[in-house]
Amino acid sequence: MTAIQTLTELDRLRATVAGWKRDGLRVGFVPTMGNLHAGHHSLVALARRHADRVVASVFVNPTQFGPNEDFTRYPRTPEDDAAGLAAAGCDTLWLPDVATMYPFGPDAAVRMHVPAVSDVLEGAHRPGHFDGVCTVVARLFHQVRPDVAAFGRKDYQQWLVVRRMVEDLAFPVELVAGDIVRESDGLAMSSRNRYLSPEDRARAPELHRVLLRMRVMTQEGAVRAQVEAEANAALREAGFVPDYAVIRTADLCEPVGELPGPRVALIAARLGKTRLIDNLEFDSALSG
Ligand code: AMP
Repeated sequence: MTAIQTLTELDRLRATVAGWKRDGLRVGFVPTMGNLHAGHHSLVALARRHADRVVASVFVNPTQFGPNEDFTRYPRTPEDDAAGLAAAGCDTLWLPDVATMYPFGPDAAVRMHVPAVSDVLEGAHRPGHFDGVCTVVARLFHQVRPDVAAFGRKDYQQWLVVRRMVEDLAFPVELVAGDIVRESDGLAMSSRNRYLSPEDRARAPELHRVLLRMRVMTQEGAVRAQVEAEANAALREAGFVPDYAVIRTADLCEPVGELPGPRVALIAARLGKTRLIDNLEFDSALSG
């Protein structure tokens, strides 16, 4: 296991990364909000495959939480995170405080907005969420100056939003995406899973089962409205309160007609006080 260096000061981070770059090393980066699990660790491994050194950041970003969301109770476990990152092969943990990230304060921060793709689905249910995500990711990219950055497909829409920002602003960073890491019962790993009561934890895998049924129904030719209506009904039946359960094209537009092609089923639903999101990418035409 490599020893991990934990940095909290921007000057030290910059000096470390500049030293690597002088040595001709490629720098990989994994931004996170901490309380790390195997999904995050898989992104460290992915970044490692594309880089010689890996930095992971842990920062619970206030600008991406709505006023009534879980910012204050979001789980913070920096010591476990450092140990897990070291085991996963991360070289440096970047652990900035709010003043380092937002020198003028979060409310006075220069903000980013990616039009269109930020405004639907998660963006419609969490106004300003993706502005906050892009605001912090842009800052992190300036701080770390990675050659390659890894994001998870668990946050499918976030992946599209960040890609768009990077392309539009010509950030000199390559982006790579990691597959969703799931528990053995299918529940997508998430820091928020620890909020679930034992009863809700037992129900939670139904989210993934509904996604699998949405894929089967679509591939068997069911019309989208029916697939979505049945998914919403199945979620309610299992005790969820869905925000949405939809089929979209890969770029999150509504599929037009029955033209086959790449699709993604996306669900956001509340179980008790916990809001879970998950998705499944597939092709609408059965192959073979
Ligand atoms: P978070 O700490 O929730 O902000 O997530 C940090 C990064 O880890 C994001 O790119 C997420 O998409 C990714 N991630 C979170 N959960 C998973 C998972 N179960 N599988 C793969 N990637 C994940």
